[in-house]
Amino acid sequence: MKKSILLFIVILIHPICYAQLSKLEKKISSFIDVNNPDALKLLEEVVNVNSGSMNFDGVYKVGQIFKSRLDALGFKTQWIDGKPFERAGHLIGYHTGNGTGKTLLLIGHLDTVFEPSSTFQKYIILNDSTATGPGISDMKGGDVIIIYSLEALKQSGLLKDMNLIVVMTGDEELSGRPLALARKDLIEAAKVADISIGFEDGKSDPKTAVSSRRGASGWELKVKGVPAHSSQIFTDNIGAGAIYETSRILTEFYQKLSTEKDLTFNPGVILGGSDVNREIKLNGGFAYGKTNIVAKETIVTGDIRAVSPEQLKRAETTMQQIVANHLPQTEATLTFDEGYPPLAPTEGNYKLLDYYNKVSKDLSLEKVVAVNPRDAGAADISFTASFV
Ligand SMILES: [Zn+2]
Repeated sequence: MKKSILLFIVILIHPICYAQLSKLEKKISSFIDVNNPDALKLLEEVVNVNSGSMNFDGVYKVGQIFKSRLDALGFKTQWIDGKPFERAGHLIGYHTGNGTGKTLLLIGHLDTVFEPSSTFQKYIILNDSTATGPGISDMKGGDVIIIYSLEALKQSGLLKDMNLIVVMTGDEELSGRPLALARKDLIEAAKVADISIGFEDGKSDPKTAVSSRRGASGWELKVKGVPAHSSQIFTDNIGAGAIYETSRILTEFYQKLSTEKDLTFNPGVILGGSDVNREIKLNGGFAYGKTNIVAKETIVTGDIRAVSPEQLKRAETTMQQIVANHLPQTEATLTFDEGYPPLAPTEGNYKLLDYYNKVSKDLSLEKVVAVNPRDAGAADISFTASFV
């Protein structure tokens, strides 16, 4: 988002040479210039409403501020209640134009990672060109860019012909579960749309844009062995124990998959011994064992990030094959949870980047290049990838 807001602000405050802009484009550009103070005022207003993902009232309140702006632009808006997935909900707005052009889906989110308990709460102007505040770059600034881009289009007489859907989710930072419900409305919107654009920051650099990002999901490995006195380990009846089997599995994950481009998988927590008690809420747990007892069980939790659904599938298959190949007297299961899908690097995405780059150059700004997908986190737009 910072990229977009910077691009946006740079567009607004720099003396721009409009050599390559058409008359209509100049009009749009000057509308943005003139209205920059108002855009910043809206940004300040929404940043000063705490909307940590679990502060449902705050998320709703921010949603209502943007809803009234979309209403005024002629959108048919709707607040989707988040009760079924235990979050605040989403704002959705539809604009059906007179034209037959493509349908654009513009994606933002209303929540931030800063809950009311955080000490970071207010919008503060640091100097003539910088402000700080919770969720400015991630991503209320991007939401404000959506609103003012639409205002500029309306003012220039272009909006009336455009087919647009705006979705601002209320749980991007801590998404509700099941994801199938929490992202249902976004996916439905994507099915109608031809092109989707997310307005969140990529790499905090206005010279870059994200054309591909990796997905992220979690996995859990559970291993069981036969507990016995350590003097009996490696015998036919006792076998290798849970900890040896776990180390075999993790080592083979590393050996077979760690060099694959754009794929990462990270075991984050491991518990093992005679008695293991995992506390999901604490992201940890308890393990008891003795040095002279063969380990009975282990639990490992980790994440996996892949650049395309095909790569994810391939990696999951390889991991399952490794797990299935047990050391003596051990058993293991590996499960993957539902996660954020990847936004694969497609021709369409590069085409959009080309457009963006051209606009940047026409505005006498810098060339825009793609962010390395390894540096781009999972995001809501990825849910739309297979539909647009
Ligand atoms: Zn975000």
